[in-house]
Amino acid sequence: PQFEEPKDARRADVTYDDIGGLGNAVEQVREMVELPLRHPELFQRLGIDPPKGVLLHGPPGTGKTLLARAVANETEASFYHIAGPEIMGSQYGESEKRLRQIFQEASQNAPAIIFVDEIDSIAPKRENVSGEVERRIVAQLLTLMDGLEPRQNIVVIGATNRRDAIDEALRRPGRFDREIVIGVPDQKGRQEVLAIHTRGMPLAEDVNMEEIARTTYGFVGADLGALAREAAMDCLRRILPDINLRDGIPSEILENLSVGQADFLSALKRIQPSALREIMIQA
Ligand code: ATP
Repeated sequence: PQFEEPKDARRADVTYDDIGGLGNAVEQVREMVELPLRHPELFQRLGIDPPKGVLLHGPPGTGKTLLARAVANETEASFYHIAGPEIMGSQYGESEKRLRQIFQEASQNAPAIIFVDEIDSIAPKRENVSGEVERRIVAQLLTLMDGLEPRQNIVVIGATNRRDAIDEALRRPGRFDREIVIGVPDQKGRQEVLAIHTRGMPLAEDVNMEEIARTTYGFVGADLGALAREAAMDCLRRILPDINLRDGIPSEILENLSVGQADFLSALKRIQPSALREIMIQA
């Protein structure tokens, strides 16, 4: 096919267990996306149409892509990932053609989920764009969504962190008429996310995840993932002086390797919550 398949081969591994701190957003996605894809007969029997489009709305790095991948994987649906800014092809008509190809492929491989990341970049409010290209792409996306039949078993999931920047025509009934808020995690949520990102790590006994969760106000899932990785790197740096890179690592060192509270605290000095970074860039 001309259009490249989802690039991320890891998607097959993502499950609901890899997602933390999103409260009932996971349940909402399951009801709106998984249920109709798995059991269209329920909706037929009730005489209602399942949603064609669901909008995930929330700040960057909160897990929107992760959630879309997880629901595709758990539903055993094909997954098509469209990166908003990338699809804006340079040649005339190229982007619309790619969109049509994706929808067509999805219908051949249904049940399917088409994930449109940063949908605000392809479908900004029409009055806000001077570009003819954007206008045509929005029109094409709308036509394709209007043409989806319930029995085709395709759901389009859009993601944005700027809900108000999206063309309202996209949010009419039969299009992206359901919305799920993906928020910044609270302390309990942060602890859940930290548990996920450290579950494969040997943790020292002194690690106090509750404290780390408490002191990471404003951190989103992506920040917490970065924090966990950095803490592990700090642990590595600590033992570096004791090893000779040319030799094998002595099993004694390998077995005793563990990430401690101090590693998390030193990593914390370097990792800034992304929301704060954005404010600092804007300022
Ligand atoms: P963007 O708007 O920038 O596309 P996003 O909301 O789609 O962001 P993801 O791409 O899903 O965010 O998150 C990036 C990475 O951060 C994930 O692959 C995962 O490692 C981690 N992550 C983000 N949110 C969560 C979460 N709720 N639980 C666990 N890990 C998370």
